[in-house]
Amino acid sequence: MKRKTNSFSDILLQENPSNVLRRSFEGGRIAQTYLFSGKPSVGRMTVAKAFAALLECKNPIKDNAGNVDSCGNCDNCKRILNDSHPDVRFVTPIGNEIKIEQIRNLQEMAVLKPTLGNWQIFIIDPAEKLNLSSSNALLKTLEEAPAHSMFILLASDTGAVLPTILSRSEIVRFNSPSHQQVRDIIKERYKMSDEAASACYALSEGNFGQSLIMAEDFEYEPDIINIKRSHTNYLLQMQMFAQLIEDDFSSVNNLEEALKKAWQLQTITYQPLLEARKALCRSLFMNTGFPKAFSLMFSQEIISCIDSAGNNIRKSFEPLLAENKKSYPTAVLKDIEAQITTSTTKWGSDQLEKIFLCLMNWYADALLMAAKADETLLLNLDRKQDIITVAKVEGFALLRSRIELLEKSVGLLRRYVQPLLVLENVITQIGGAEA
Ligand SMILES: [Zn+2]
Repeated sequence: MKRKTNSFSDILLQENPSNVLRRSFEGGRIAQTYLFSGKPSVGRMTVAKAFAALLECKNPIKDNAGNVDSCGNCDNCKRILNDSHPDVRFVTPIGNEIKIEQIRNLQEMAVLKPTLGNWQIFIIDPAEKLNLSSSNALLKTLEEAPAHSMFILLASDTGAVLPTILSRSEIVRFNSPSHQQVRDIIKERYKMSDEAASACYALSEGNFGQSLIMAEDFEYEPDIINIKRSHTNYLLQMQMFAQLIEDDFSSVNNLEEALKKAWQLQTITYQPLLEARKALCRSLFMNTGFPKAFSLMFSQEIISCIDSAGNNIRKSFEPLLAENKKSYPTAVLKDIEAQITTSTTKWGSDQLEKIFLCLMNWYADALLMAAKADETLLLNLDRKQDIITVAKVEGFALLRSRIELLEKSVGLLRRYVQPLLVLENVITQIGGAEA
């Protein structure tokens, strides 16, 4: 599931940053360091790739509106679309940070002449993950960079980027579209009904990029609320998803490909799992007959299901790593192993966080209704009636405390508190109001 083009004309809701970049290309006023500032999933990476394609393209074209764009047909354009262009590289965290060795590596490559294209391009995502030493190394690289190298930094919190790096960067700001803007785009582009477009967007928990990918082959099915069924279905879909990923990974031929797959793990969407998660959270939100005594078992089943899915995914890399033991230097192999472990572990811990985020979005919607806000601000607009019902029953103060509980729980997970304890506590508190 990837984008079909890297053309600027396919970019949605980010005309301003796109036009800034296209104009600077046409005017020959290209900066060497850009910082794309905006929330995750609003399209910063998409625009970075469109810009990279324009810069490397052999025959840039004019689109219907007279704006410059990449051709989409030359070898450079095609390779960028497949993430396989030798002069366009991605620098992403290993573990929780971008390490100084990665920047030293980048420094060495930045001085080399581009092999196929016109530029050596480095996309650093997210720039907040540069630690102090890697930031300083990057700064030095930026100061000494040859004219053919370009650095694109992606950041959602520019306050976390070293000020000396910021001041060397041309800052390009990205908009955060409203729920309604995204729903309108989905509806128009994919010819959906209001309700289907709302359901599709709500499934992505407000993640714009993900909702667009999902809209490609979205099938709308109104679901039924029942806590036991939604719980069983969630466990089932989690296993199915892990199996799909394992099958995909076992078809990989070399370690570079495996590494790329591991990177992409966080962005793979699987609609049945998203639906199952949404239904599970909806039942919890609606508090549909959840027996208090079951909260531990309920939580245990979810945690062990996520854990075993993560382990199976990680294990599916092992034969390939073993096979390649002799053909790679130990240090490189260790790096690749670390990156794969990082990605799969993160995938697992994200799954529970996503349940909390989903629940939080339901309560945030209910809080909006309790405060008599405009209904277009709802994320789960397709479930307006559920939200109104819960808002009436639970009231402002209780809804606020639910949101606080979930925020605190996400914080605990990020501080590596045992997931089972955190989940059980949430379930007991939310499901515990026995009638
Ligand atoms: Zn081209």
